[in-house]
Amino acid sequence: MEIIHKTFDKCPACGSDKRFVQTLVEIAKDRGLARENWKMFFDSRRGYVLDQNRVILMPIGSKVPAFQIATDICMECGCIYAVGLAAGEGTIKAEQLPPFTPAELPLSS
Ligand SMILES: [Zn+2]
Repeated sequence: MEIIHKTFDKCPACGSDKRFVQTLVEIAKDRGLARENWKMFFDSRRGYVLDQNRVILMPIGSKVPAFQIATDICMECGCIYAVGLAAGEGTIKAEQLPPFTPAELPLSS
């Protein structure tokens, strides 16, 4: 499966690069409360592109298409927008049937 990894550095509405949650993350890093490579978003959703009725038929360890969407809020105009989109392969794990475990995608920290 083709891997998708896109990031968006500026607000699509006003062009500002100042983001609310990213600003809070930088403050936490400055205070030593977070790792330098730590990421946090306003919202981050992950999932598998798979009919729930099919998962019961698939062996543990099966590779399936997966995705992640990360959003933040513009500090200038308040627009909520996607800062990252990722898609790739995820693995079905025994302890997660159902629901699934998040995939190891580029936006994960
Ligand atoms: Zn904006």
